[in-house]
Order: sequence, then C-alpha cells, then structure tokens
Amino acid sequence: MALDVLLINPPDQKSKYKKYLNIRIPPLGILYIAAVLEENGISVEVMDCAAEDTTYADIRERVERTRPFMVGITSTTPLINEAVMSAEAVKMAGDPYIVLGGPHATFLHHEILTENTAIDFVIKGEGEYVFAELYQILRSGGDPGTIEGLVFRSNGAIQENPDREVCVDLNTLPYPARHLLPKENYRIFDVNMPIATVICSRGCPMRCSFCASSAIHGRTIRKRSPEDVIEEIRHIRDTLDISMIAFMDDTFTLMPGWVETFCNLLIEEDLHIEWGCTARVDRIDSDLIRLMKRAGCETLFIGVESGDQEILDRIKKGTKIDQIKTVFSTARDFGMRTIASIALGLPGETKETAKKSISFVKKLHASYALFSIATPYPGTEFYNTVRENGNLPQNWSNFDLFSPVVGTLSLTLEDIRDIQKKAYREFYLRPIYILETLAKEGRPFFHAMKVLISP
Ligand code: SF4
Repeated sequence: MALDVLLINPPDQKSKYKKYLNIRIPPLGILYIAAVLEENGISVEVMDCAAEDTTYADIRERVERTRPFMVGITSTTPLINEAVMSAEAVKMAGDPYIVLGGPHATFLHHEILTENTAIDFVIKGEGEYVFAELYQILRSGGDPGTIEGLVFRSNGAIQENPDREVCVDLNTLPYPARHLLPKENYRIFDVNMPIATVICSRGCPMRCSFCASSAIHGRTIRKRSPEDVIEEIRHIRDTLDISMIAFMDDTFTLMPGWVETFCNLLIEEDLHIEWGCTARVDRIDSDLIRLMKRAGCETLFIGVESGDQEILDRIKKGTKIDQIKTVFSTARDFGMRTIASIALGLPGETKETAKKSISFVKKLHASYALFSIATPYPGTEFYNTVRENGNLPQNWSNFDLFSPVVGTLSLTLEDIRDIQKKAYREFYLRPIYILETLAKEGRPFFHAMKVLISP
C-alpha cells in the first residue's frame, strides 16, 4: 500500500559541526509533524539523511518503493540547496506533492517557489497543523487557498495565505514520533550513550539582533507544563531506554521559576537522567544552578557572544560581562560542564574586540568554547541591516557558522577567518587546559581538536 507522507531531513555532507564534533541530533521539527500526522491516522515515514548519511539516490529509491502521496522536506539556510536537490530527487522518482518547511523557507518562501518548480508548497512558521490540514485538503480535492500559513503557486502567481496563529498550548502537542528513527544514529561527541532531544518552550521575548527565534515562534514565550515534560522524559526512558537528554529550547532558563519547579519535580520523581540545556546569564543564579545540578544537569550551553560590552549592547543581547563571569564561575564550582558560544565578526567587531573576546573566554575557564562566525540569517535584524546596506551574499551554503559571509567596518572575511583559527588555537592549546580536559573528558577533547587542524 502506498504511503501517505514521507518526511525528509536533507543530506548533509558538509556540516562542520557534524564532521568535527560528531554532533548528530534528531530532527525534532519533523518528528513533531510526524506525530501530529500519526495522531490523525495518516501513515508517515521519516528519512533523516543527515544522520544516516543517505544520498539523493537513496531518496529516489525510497520514493519509488513507498509511493508517498505527499513529501515534506525541512530547510535550514546552509542546507537550502540540499533541500531543493532532495525535492528534485523526489520528483524524478514519482509525483507526490512536495512541501518545504523550516526556517529558511519561512522567510524566503517567495524566492524559493519562484526559483524551484519541484516544490509545490511552502509552510511558514510552525508546521504541524498546517501540514496535517494540507494533507486532508489535498486528499479531498479541496482548496489550499483556505489554509493559513501556506504559500504556493496558483495560476502562474505566488499565493501567500495569511499567517497562522501559533499553537498556544504546547501541552496539546503529541510527543515527537521518535520511534520512526533508530536511536543509535544520534550522539554528541561520540559519547557512547544514545541521546534524546526535548523541547519545553517556543518563542522568546528578547531582541538579540542575530537571532530569528522570535520571528519564527513569536515574542511571547509558550511553556509546556513541567509535568508534561516529566511525562515525556519518562516515556523516552521507558520506551527507548535513553537517559541522556539535551533540552533544545532557545533559552531553557528564560523563566527561572519554571526551571525551579521542573527540577524539584525531576528530583521527586527520581528519574535518574543526565541532561544539558541552554542558559542566559541574566536568568540563572547560584541557587538555581545548585538545584539544576541536583536534578541531573551536567552541561550548560551559554551564549556569551562577545567579551566586549559595547558589542553585547549593540546586538541587544541584554547581558553584562560581570553576569557572564559569575555564572561560569558558579557552574564550575558546582562541577558542571560549560560550553561558551562566541560569535566572531559581529557588527562593530575589530581586531581588538575579537582579541578581548578570546582572552575573556580563556579566563572564564569554560569546559569548551565554540567560536562561530556571526552570520546574518534570514529573519534576523542582522540580515535586514546587511541586506539594506547591499552587502548580502547569496551563497547560502556558506551560512554554516564556520565560513565568514560578511565583514565588519574594519575586518575583511579573511581577517575573520584568521581570527576564528587563532581563537580555537589559543583556547584549546593551553597546556593546563589540555591536561585538565584530557583527564576529565577524553574523546570529546579530540573532536574539538579536529577543528584546529581543519583546512
Ligand atoms: S538568542 Fe536566545 S535570548 Fe536572544 S532572542 Fe534568540 S532565543 Fe531569545
């Protein structure tokens, strides 16, 4: 029997995060869509080509074999070409309706539909209910013009339907359909334990100029209840035998009161999981860090962005250098692993401010540092400014956080590339750091080292 829906995460042969750090995490957006489809009695399969290292030939073979009625493909900015090539592979093997979703398609739907005839529909924003509704309408021969959140070609023109209201009560969403993907495919740093990803909230009221979160999910944070999240963790542990969780919220600690309730519940339920999350330094204090550690939190991922206060203010991060220092030092005191995320080449960056950031991160004694390149992703204020100034590059595949795509007033792309190399060398090649980290972490350290020797 033919399949109703095939969902595809496109092949990714080039991601440096995947190549050097061996980070492979399940595609939660697709798994949420799959869960809503299953809830509506629609048969669905998922191909995570990025994790499975599958190719366009594999996509063709799967489409020929399963003959889906509809195919959904996710698109991020650096992988938009791969998403389009996946759509073309699907069209070569059959004639299902092809739907593109994800952050890149959300913002550049018009351009995508104009340039790529293999794609029939684009979903803007959160896709679960739009996709399910589109499936029902197409099956019944109805009019997609009534579906909010959808863009498509109609009579030779692009028709953009009104935006759709976001799902206000996240507790009503089913748990992601994790059973559709093999858990063995997912890991971080080759750590010999399968990992599951969970998301507790959507939306962010902050205004960081480099971030598209609020443009996709809105400026109001929507949180699931702590009880619902605990139930999902129990479900993951009982059905998949996974006890390592990465919380994928843009900022897990945005509502400290919620985190406190959640941690207390987790301790009470005695679920014995190890977890990590993102944190904002102005939304976490020593009491909360202590409680999180007691509840099993081992890793904090912190968006430091810069060691220069003027740059932090310019990008509207809303954090202070002193707050960053305090949080790193407290987390270290409680024995937590910390990952400092720095963006090099932000607006206003100079050789001096970059040097200041590198030296600042070394002094933070972070367990790891990720020195990404500041990138103007569609949907961000940064993108709008770069576009208005006429400096927007069009080679989306370079928007991978490792390739400089825009310079600053005083730094060329080459300067930024050199600064990134220097940052990795200076941070990871300190003798004291090497000794401490090898003793504690072993293999993850060697993965970080690959970044240093990459071309
Ligand atoms: S970077 Fe984090 S805190 Fe800032 S807007 Fe994005 S999600 Fe919100």
